[in-house]
Amino acid sequence: MTVRPLPVTIDVLKLVDRGQELSGTLPLRQMTRLLENLVDDQGDVSVVLIFGRDQGRRRVVTGRIQATVQLTCQRCLRAMPYHIDAEVALGVCRSEDEVAVLSEAYDPLLLTESPQRLSELVEDELILALPTLARHESAPDCRPVSVTFGEAASLPDDSAPEKPNPFAVLDVLKKRDDS
Ligand SMILES: [Zn+2]
Repeated sequence: MTVRPLPVTIDVLKLVDRGQELSGTLPLRQMTRLLENLVDDQGDVSVVLIFGRDQGRRRVVTGRIQATVQLTCQRCLRAMPYHIDAEVALGVCRSEDEVAVLSEAYDPLLLTESPQRLSELVEDELILALPTLARHESAPDCRPVSVTFGEAASLPDDSAPEKPNPFAVLDVLKKRDDS
């Protein structure tokens, strides 16, 4: 299997005109904003992006971004692996006006600079796919700590019947695709 390196910067409009597909991997360690949420910087992001136009002739970027990242469990404060598998559906916008009228089926990709850094586009998608509350699904992976750390004190009690679903974010993404 040959893996071509992904370009560092991309000209989105040009790629759309060509109907180009990009696939490959990017190292997580390039993504400094994302790393603020992670335990370590190890691993790669698998990227498939298809540039083109949809049936309404809109410029769109679709595809899939996958990575396994290490988050801090907010209950036991230990590392927990979290697999991100995000469908990409971006509508290319050249101005705020275009963002305002973009179909809800797409998230806006506002072109503020050209060429654009590919890793930033991918990083934005990864950040969107992070769970709002990272917690191990169950014991024995997760044993709550008895000490209270700052904000952790306001987290829901462990015995509460309503546990936030760490995959709720994926449901939101799926709904986005369906709309
Ligand atoms: Zn835990």
